[in-house]
Parts: sequence; C-alpha cells; structure tokens
Amino acid sequence: MSVYSTSLLLAPFAMAIASFLNVCISRIPDAKTNLWYRSRCPHCGASIPWYDNIPILSFYILKRKCRYCKSHISWQYPVVEILGTFLILFTLGRFHFSFFSFFAAAMLSLLLVISFIDMQNYIVPNVLVLAGLVIAALKILLTRDISISSSILGLLGGGSFLLVAGIFGQIIFKKESMGAGDVKLAAMLGAFVGLKGILMSLFLAIFIAAFTGAMGILLQKLDRKSILPFGPFIAFATTLYILFPHQIEFYFYLFYG
Ligand SMILES: [Zn+2]
Repeated sequence: MSVYSTSLLLAPFAMAIASFLNVCISRIPDAKTNLWYRSRCPHCGASIPWYDNIPILSFYILKRKCRYCKSHISWQYPVVEILGTFLILFTLGRFHFSFFSFFAAAMLSLLLVISFIDMQNYIVPNVLVLAGLVIAALKILLTRDISISSSILGLLGGGSFLLVAGIFGQIIFKKESMGAGDVKLAAMLGAFVGLKGILMSLFLAIFIAAFTGAMGILLQKLDRKSILPFGPFIAFATTLYILFPHQIEFYFYLFYG
C-alpha cells in the first residue's frame, strides 16, 4: 500500500480539520465570536444542526442555500473543505507521516486560513502569525530540519525583504503595495523555511502576483486601481516551496543562477 493510500484512511479526520479551518476563516476576523460555539447562518442567525453541517455533502444536499432563510451559502465553505482535506492528506503522505509532515500540514492549513481571511478582509490577524511562529519553533526543536540560526535569519530576512520591496513599490506605483500584514507573514514563514527558502518563496510570489495581475488586466477582470492582496501569493508560493523544495531550487538556479 502506498503512503498516499494510507493517508486516505485519515480522510474523515482531515475533513473535520478542514471544516474547522472554515470556522476560523469566518470567525477570527470578528474577534468577539467564540471558535467553539455552534455554527450559525451568517444571514438569519439560525443555528445549524449537525446534519446540515457535514463537510462537502451538506452543501450539495442543501443546494447552496440556508435551510431556514434560503440565502446563499458562500463558495468559501466547499472550496476550503476540499482544498484543506486534499492539502492535509497530500502533505502527510508526501513526507511519510514523519514529525515534519505534521508540522508542514499544520503550517499549510494555517496558510489556507490566512489566505482566505486576507482575500475577504485585507488583514492578516496577529493571532495567526503567532500560531505560525509556535509551529515553526516546535518544528525546529523536534525535527532539526534547518538550523536555529537559519530560522532567525529567515525571520529577519523575510520581513525586511518585504519591507524594502514595499517602500520601492510605494515609490514606483505611488500607492501602498505591501501592508504590515505581508511583512509579518513573510517573517513568520521565514522562521519556518529558513533564509534560502523564504527568499526563493518571495521571488516566486512576486513572479506569480505580477503574472496574475497582468492576466487580470489583459482579460479585463482587474484594472490598475484594483487591490490585489499580496498575502495569498506569499502563502501559495511558500506552500509550493514547503512541498517541493528541490524542484523550486532547481528552477530558481536555472533562471537566476
Ligand atoms: Zn439563514
């Protein structure tokens, strides 16, 4: 049995986590609501019974509508349930259920939450940055995959790289291109992947964001005044780096080496 089929045995567990990630996305930006409270419809406030809250399945049975007020349920729910479940199972299998695989799965889940919150609210909550630093510290102490000095350099290097890029962006585009949230996110991820990893991830993020922006303008989905939060690009590029570090390094040296 391959590692990936073994990881399928954990599918119900991964789906439960992915559904909790949805709860985090909906409730963390509104700091007053409790994460452990029963789910409610965001439109009519009716509490949602367990049989309407089954990951993925309920969304199709209810035909994307609240049972009580018939208002539409956001696409965020099935997208995060499917993407989160897939990411967790793939990461555990990819690193053969090692200690590292659990920390990587935790970090990629956190990045999914941060990306959706940033896309919807244009913020990166401090509590999530702090959670990421704890995951990074525990990973280094337990797996020693990178040295402590590389982690600290990654934190400082990732943060200051974006700070400098943000200042240049402001001079060139005459508008705020990078927020404090992006700087905190890059610093936190630098602590997780180390200096080399975060610099490659940030170059990749800038490349993907520039490509997406250009495509958006070409296809007339965006104009020059649109706000494209950079956080999800940092999260996406670093996710690629965490999953495929050797492949990313190979292409990086091909283009820049
Ligand atoms: Zn409702």
